[in-house]
Amino acid sequence: MINFRDYGRLLVDEPLNKHTTFKIGGKAKYVLFPNSEEDLIKALKLARGENIKYLVLGRASNVLVDDKGFNGLVLILKSLDRLTIKDNKITAACGAGLRELANFALENSLSGLEFAHGIPGSVGGGVIMNAGAYDSEMKNFVKRVRLLDKDLNILDLSNEEMDFGYRHSLAQDKGYIVLSAVFELKRGVDYSGIKEKMDDFFKRRSSKQPLELPSAGSTFRRPEGYFAGKLIDDCGLRGLRHGGAMVSEKHCGFIVNYNKASSKDVKELIEMVQKVVYDRYKVKLVPEVKFIGGDNGDSCNNGNEWSR
Ligand SMILES: Cc1cc2nc3c(=O)[nH]c(=O)nc-3n(C[C@H](O)[C@H](O)[C@H](O)COP(=O)(O)OP(=O)(O)OC[C@H]3O[C@@H](n4cnc5c(N)ncnc54)[C@H](O)[C@@H]3O)c2cc1C
Repeated sequence: MINFRDYGRLLVDEPLNKHTTFKIGGKAKYVLFPNSEEDLIKALKLARGENIKYLVLGRASNVLVDDKGFNGLVLILKSLDRLTIKDNKITAACGAGLRELANFALENSLSGLEFAHGIPGSVGGGVIMNAGAYDSEMKNFVKRVRLLDKDLNILDLSNEEMDFGYRHSLAQDKGYIVLSAVFELKRGVDYSGIKEKMDDFFKRRSSKQPLELPSAGSTFRRPEGYFAGKLIDDCGLRGLRHGGAMVSEKHCGFIVNYNKASSKDVKELIEMVQKVVYDRYKVKLVPEVKFIGGDNGDSCNNGNEWSR
């Protein structure tokens, strides 16, 4: 067996449904939780040397992992979760939760990241996806990002160099790994003001989103000039079921796993929704969720699944 064990907690033949917010996904040959940046780099070197394909995950809240699993190394970065502060700048390691980051900002009376409190992802996943909510996004507060390129060189890019866009960053296109990010936040709002905003966002989120069922958040990107959820609702697809997957009754933009859904159930339901919406409105719905593993191979829309 390849000796990934030196670099963190290792699980072999591990079902990925135990790790994804969708609660879907077959086995990965190896799952490693690296202890440190250095261990991450060493594990990547080893995987490359052994010709093992690999991918990184943060909190696995934006992925649909295939039922056939992933025949390689999945690096789950959530142990790299250090948060430090200097003046109004927070440096967050890639695996820190966005919730923990937002709470850390709150404790230090720094405002800006209230929107991120309810997003169940990591700093790395949030930065690479330019996660956003309530008219705000990571781009507005990221000052610099430390990354690993595919040759394992460390890069330090500014906000502008990251070329952030709607759920997009340069790092996604290039398949870079986010190691950490510096967030520049605002002083001048007191603790209670920040807390009130966070609580308000949380109430709005839990009243509108199906947080009680497993999902990967919004299934589709927002098509220009439309809202995916409204288009789906207007087509009469609210509550549409396929196998164990369902268009959420609470928010049509979410596909939920209501009864032991397989990745096939979800994919087929995505295709059904795409077809009906296209036939009626001529609008193409593009998945925001990343497809990982199985036969997705090079055609999968995940920029961070690498093989040599
Ligand atoms: C209930 C619910 C609500 C949600 N609400 C929102 C919302 O309001 N706004 C929003 O934008 N998103 C939302 N999401 C989606 C998701 O939480 C975000 O996209 C989040 O940023 C993903 O982070 P993650 O760590 O879970 O990424 P993962 O799902 O682990 O990975 C997603 C992609 O990022 C890559 N990746 C992860 N970490 C790194 C890293 N360190 N370096 C390089 N690549 C990396 C992975 O390879 C994969 O391609 C929601 C999801 C759920 C389940």
